[in-house]
Amino acid sequence: MTIYTSCDIIVTGYFYPAAAFCPADITKERAIYMDNNYNNRNYDPNSQRPRKRVSKKTLRRRQLTALCVIAFLVLLLVILMAKACTKDSTKKGGDTAPTETTTTTALTTTAQAATSATTTTTTTTRTEGANDSGFKLDKYSVYIDIGGTALPIVQAYPDGSSEPDEVWTSSDPKIATVDSYGHITGVSGGECYVTVGTRKDPSKEATVKVVVAGPANTANPDVPGENTPNTDNNKITNPEPQQLAEAPAPSKISGEGFHYEGDVLIVNKTYSIPSTYDPGALDPTCTEWFNKLAQGAAKEGLNIYISSGYRSYNDQNTIYNGYCQGYGQATADTFSARPGHSEHQTGLAIDVNIIDDSFAGTPEAIWIENHCWEYGFILRYPKGKQDITGYKYEPWHIRYVGSEISKKIHDAGGITLEEYYGLTSQYQS
Ligand SMILES: [Zn+2]
Repeated sequence: MTIYTSCDIIVTGYFYPAAAFCPADITKERAIYMDNNYNNRNYDPNSQRPRKRVSKKTLRRRQLTALCVIAFLVLLLVILMAKACTKDSTKKGGDTAPTETTTTTALTTTAQAATSATTTTTTTTRTEGANDSGFKLDKYSVYIDIGGTALPIVQAYPDGSSEPDEVWTSSDPKIATVDSYGHITGVSGGECYVTVGTRKDPSKEATVKVVVAGPANTANPDVPGENTPNTDNNKITNPEPQQLAEAPAPSKISGEGFHYEGDVLIVNKTYSIPSTYDPGALDPTCTEWFNKLAQGAAKEGLNIYISSGYRSYNDQNTIYNGYCQGYGQATADTFSARPGHSEHQTGLAIDVNIIDDSFAGTPEAIWIENHCWEYGFILRYPKGKQDITGYKYEPWHIRYVGSEISKKIHDAGGITLEEYYGLTSQYQS
């Protein structure tokens, strides 16, 4: 067929004309023409729009490109969400997703990231109180005055831990201190956190928010009673050495019957103190520096706590007589002081942790021996010095003397108080 119309001319080009523009017969002609010449082409005889011709290969490439772009955008979204999550939490959350190749996988990851974001938020809001550590306390916030005290009770411990494993620390001892039993004492107005952990697993802990009512201590943020106003800057940049050579000497006790060497009260088998001397508790400076010692040990994952602190004359009398009945006086004298001769009556001596030979060689005993001097304490009855001190080795008994003396004794090679001052320790009878 060779009838060419204007319509057909267009057909032979790139366009197929609309039927409306052509008479019916010509349309028929065109259909035959199409059958003969364009069957092998992808022409849609009903289409009225001009259309560019694309090969299948190109089409597939374009589809793939579009898919890649979508996958990339979703992946970008996932990474951004994951980053937002990890910034808020120390817990492992939406990690950077591995390179995703399909939209489906990327969407799944988005869902996972969303789930972990929810978990993270929950954890963050719960860190002030109960958490998954296994600790359960009766309270997670306390409100006290300056000088006031509070004692959160541990009702449940992490698996494998118990009361002796408790490690109590204060985030800011200038606001509130905490002793090894969890007694919190307000020092100055402000807020801080007290944390209880377990030395069995330093990662497990619970936190108590402490609010102390009253004026903030800006005049002397350091240890009360110390004259070290120019050390504040050092404290910020280099806090560790500030523990050294700062513990003040304990205040002197006035009255007859006390033997002093310099600022140091001497109590041993030679020197006693009056039976009437009864401070009723540990010396406050001694307590304060013991808390710092315990906090220093806690930083290394060790729990050092007071097992026996102040003991009255009458307490010591009862203990000593009990030992005499059980072991005989000669043996009792090697490990227990006679009433009036016990350092515990001064309020300046502390027995830590386990009060028997099993304490020797433990990480806590080794730490005490190496570090107690940094907090103004000395190990009072060292190994191999029984002839000098009058007592067998007691790795648990430390004595507060202030860091000026504790450092000198440490620097002298771990000598005893008797050797340092040239004293004896022997009962007169
Ligand atoms: Zn003792």
